[in-house]
Amino acid sequence: MTIHHTSNGLDLVRRHDLLWPALEQAIHAAVLIDSRNTVIFFNAAAERLWGYDRQEVLGRSVDVLVPAPLRQAHRQSIEDNRRTGQNKIVGTSRELEVERKDGSRIWVSFSLSKVATDDGIYYLGFLRDITREVLLREERRLLSLAVDETGKAVLILDHNRDIVYVNQAFTDLFGYTATEVMGRRPSSFLASPATDPADLQRLQQGAWGNTGFQEEILAAAKDGRELWVSASINPIAGPEGEMRNVVAVLSDITESRQLRSLQQEMLAALTSDLSLDGLLDFLCRRIEVIAPGLVAAVFLRDAEESLALAAGPSLPEDYRAAIRRVPIGPEATTSGLAAFLGRPLLSEDVPSDPRWQKLGESLRHFGIQACWASPIKRADGRVMGSLTFYFPACRPSCRWHEEIALVSRHLCLLAIERHESRERLMALARFDSLTGLPNRAALLEKARALTTRPEGAGDIAFLSIGVDNLQDINETLGHAAGDTLLIAVSNLMHARLEPKNYLGRFGGDAFLMILNNTSLARTSSLAERILAELAAPLDIGGQPVTCSASIGIAFSPANGGNGEDLLCHANVAMQRARTEGRGRPCFYSPAMARFAQDRMRLSAALREAIRQEQLRFEYHPLVRPLTGEIHGVEALARWTHPELGIIPPDRFIPLAEETGQIEALGNWALREVCRQMAEWRARGIDLPTVAVNLSPLHFRNKQLPLFLTELLCEYRLPGHCLKVEITENAMMDGEAETLETLHRIRALGVGLSMDDFGTGFSSLSRLAKLPVTELKIDRSFMRDIDRNPNARAIAMAVIRIGQSLDMTVIAEGVETEDQRQFLIDLGCQVAQGYLYTKPLPPAELELWLRRHRPFSEG
Ligand code: C2E
Ligand code: CA
Ligand code: CA
Repeated sequence: MTIHHTSNGLDLVRRHDLLWPALEQAIHAAVLIDSRNTVIFFNAAAERLWGYDRQEVLGRSVDVLVPAPLRQAHRQSIEDNRRTGQNKIVGTSRELEVERKDGSRIWVSFSLSKVATDDGIYYLGFLRDITREVLLREERRLLSLAVDETGKAVLILDHNRDIVYVNQAFTDLFGYTATEVMGRRPSSFLASPATDPADLQRLQQGAWGNTGFQEEILAAAKDGRELWVSASINPIAGPEGEMRNVVAVLSDITESRQLRSLQQEMLAALTSDLSLDGLLDFLCRRIEVIAPGLVAAVFLRDAEESLALAAGPSLPEDYRAAIRRVPIGPEATTSGLAAFLGRPLLSEDVPSDPRWQKLGESLRHFGIQACWASPIKRADGRVMGSLTFYFPACRPSCRWHEEIALVSRHLCLLAIERHESRERLMALARFDSLTGLPNRAALLEKARALTTRPEGAGDIAFLSIGVDNLQDINETLGHAAGDTLLIAVSNLMHARLEPKNYLGRFGGDAFLMILNNTSLARTSSLAERILAELAAPLDIGGQPVTCSASIGIAFSPANGGNGEDLLCHANVAMQRARTEGRGRPCFYSPAMARFAQDRMRLSAALREAIRQEQLRFEYHPLVRPLTGEIHGVEALARWTHPELGIIPPDRFIPLAEETGQIEALGNWALREVCRQMAEWRARGIDLPTVAVNLSPLHFRNKQLPLFLTELLCEYRLPGHCLKVEITENAMMDGEAETLETLHRIRALGVGLSMDDFGTGFSSLSRLAKLPVTELKIDRSFMRDIDRNPNARAIAMAVIRIGQSLDMTVIAEGVETEDQRQFLIDLGCQVAQGYLYTKPLPPAELELWLRRHRPFSEG
């Protein structure tokens, strides 16, 4: 390695041949300057330290290497040394911050020594980069500052979980000095006898784990005082993953925990049924538990100028009596004055306060020293009351009490607001918002009060009044019109109401009138008058609308003893009025109730029967009257209930329609009939078609054609094997969707029969456009034709209409040979009736078919 040096240092180099290579290779930076401050040697480590190439500094002033703030002083001392021969800066060893060529700063430890030679004086500087050490040291200093200054107790445990460090806050909190606890297990002295062993176990186990966690636990201080601490436990692992230390940070949460549980308990109480006073009482007791030595009370504003004592469970009885109501104002005692001023107020010396003297003996008896009142304020600033703390002894530290008061005032407000909203709801819950009439709940209460009166107080009538066409009006004119109608109806009835009677609304279209001390005649004439008045057109938004109503009436005591029963009975009667006696009130009878009850029971039984497939089919043949050939069969549903016996379809089919079961029944019917037909065909029993009756309601289901397609496919039946019978009105309902469904069914090849033809209101031109293949003349037309020429003429006309539409005409209800002859004479192609047979179960039908065959051949 070549050593570069300046001419000044030439002699030196020559004389110290051995020294230079050593200096050059030193790991510390070495710089040699002469007494003129010129750099004459700069080793490789120095180049690295400063970032200068030695060519850039050799032969130049050392100033560039000296930290700027020291430059002046450095130059001065070199100069002084030269003049005086002293060596003031020599031997110095210190830490400096130097600036490198690229402007960055590093910390170095620096030492300078004087080298005196024959040529003169030289200075040799050694420097070492100590930046990392300085930073680490600073970090450690700041850390220990933080640990010692923090209010939280810090413990550091070693790998055995024994204490190796505690900070000052630990000593402050628990009373143990660092020396007392060194080397001990925290659990051996910090746990209180009352500490939950499960909590302790969790904490200890966690400290051996490898993730940090937080736990709240009851601990004990050196003096035995219990305190709740929140412990944050942080295990620290070494580089190999081995657990080295645990750092635990503990903070005292005794008070915040107490406040939290105060809040929680009070919130739980708020969801209970406790009254406002009960809640406030509860709050006062809880406050007294967490702040021993004080007596709490809550006053609520009951008028503009006064407060009423709402709670103060620990106040002596005579004192409570004395402060039951306290005025709000400038002359008032602490609570009243605080409410007046709208800010917390302290009376430190109650016994000598002249305002308090009016409380007299009770105050002396209570023996309080201080009183602190803080107003309970709503968000808008309105004072709702006062939370007052009495201190029998001298008033102790107040920060804790202020915190309790702050939380408690919020809780009081919550309780007050809950109370107010309950009251509001109670009021709302009693009236119908549309008509302003009492609602169901309010009416039932009234009814209960009336019906529990002593005997002989006179008859009470319950009138259930239903607006029948509300739904129609809602749908055609809109809900606003419906509302207007209800208000008009309500006004009209209200005008008829005498003072001792009641009117209310208890549902969408239902009103209830209760007539007190009335008679049958008077009730009936009032009901009829109401119906007559409602029948006149009402003006709804400028349009005349006719309201149709039904009234059902039940009497007390004849029809029931209590309000609920009477209401229910009046309703049953109203339903009855709706179905039969339009325009006339209907009086409740026990038979009606039985009917309604039976219906409910039957409906449940039917649901069960459909589910369990208890329904069966009988098949009724359709025969060509002239030849006796079989045209097909009609499937008719039969239900034999295990207890109720045979229930005719005229009863259960309408029931299924009214109780929403008709679709389930229809789907089952279609499947069963297809199954039966497939079975017959498989066994070679030749039946052209089987007809199934479907309810018009079923027809509204758009999935019906799809369902039929799937069934035909499943049972491998051609479409023409199946026929669907629907009543005239269903086919003519004019809905585009119904028509579409009819076409889609017809497109499957399935026949469409119009049942009970002649009983509906068909328009012949529309009838001609329907995809119907058959008309079944209703069996009422067959009645009397043997005897009554008029009946004959009508039957003839109906059959002719069918024929003129080019459809197969089927006459139902053919019972006699005469009727058959009549049909043959008219050219009616198909007849169905008891003349041939009653509807038969499948097996019997097979027998009948076999027996029938010869007749058809003949
Ligand atoms: P419908 O469709 O008009 O059925 C014909 C009814 O007339 C049957 O009464 C049948 O027994 C009766 N009938 C047939 N020939 C004569 C006769 O010569 N004289 C007399 N007096 N009656 C005769 P059923 O079985 O009691 O059915 C009554 C109604 O119940 C049926 O009238 C039909 O509307 C309905 N129904 C029956 N089964 C079903 C079904 O599975 N689904 C639906 N939706 N309705 C059904
Ligand atoms: Ca039928
Ligand atoms: Ca029929």
